[in-house]
Amino acid sequence: KLIVFEGVEGCGKTSQMQLCSEWLESLGISVVVTREPGGTELGLHLRRLLLEKAEDKPVAQVTELLLYAADRSQHVEQELKPQLQAGKYILCDRYTDSTIAYQGYGRGLNMSLINQLNHIATAGLESDLTIWLDVDVEVGLARKRGDGIGLDRIEQETIAFHRRVQQGYAELAASYPSRIVRVDGSLSKEAVQQVIQGILRV
Ligand code: C5P
Ligand code: MG
Repeated sequence: KLIVFEGVEGCGKTSQMQLCSEWLESLGISVVVTREPGGTELGLHLRRLLLEKAEDKPVAQVTELLLYAADRSQHVEQELKPQLQAGKYILCDRYTDSTIAYQGYGRGLNMSLINQLNHIATAGLESDLTIWLDVDVEVGLARKRGDGIGLDRIEQETIAFHRRVQQGYAELAASYPSRIVRVDGSLSKEAVQQVIQGILRV
């Protein structure tokens, strides 16, 4: 199974995926935790190019879109497909909905171009379930600022950008109600995890 976690910055994907993986392993399920961008060695290079803060090294919008697509294509071929083939339960941090939310709603790039690139990059591989951790944009960014790691290139975008991304997730969830499940990410870490475990019902 391919389970994807999505949401705006600071929505809690990383900690929820970690808890989820520990829970699944405790049930004897073999889990792979991975992410985009950066789920492969090539992807780690792309992730650094995409997210490092370098005011003197701007990334053009379509270039950015293509790099995320390249990262995804490599991830699908090298990691997702083989692990699914091996019967693994995959928890993936971001997938095609991130491209629609960030490059489509956030940057305003052409949606049919994005859909085509998603289709090419995934070779048609869709998530079995997508968990959207819904938190208020300001709450998420405040969490990010609080964790002391510093904000990456995308996290430093305007609040209006992050609101458009959030709107993108809301519209995606409304359009694909059977694939995308909204979880209230403003609850405590433990409460969110309980909800997710209830949804996965393994
Ligand atoms: O760890 P996190 O998921 O936040 O790192 C991925 C980063 O890449 C995020 O800051 C997100 O804003 C950005 N991203 C993006 N477009 C995508 C996927 C990720 O801007 N399609
Ligand atoms: Mg981020």
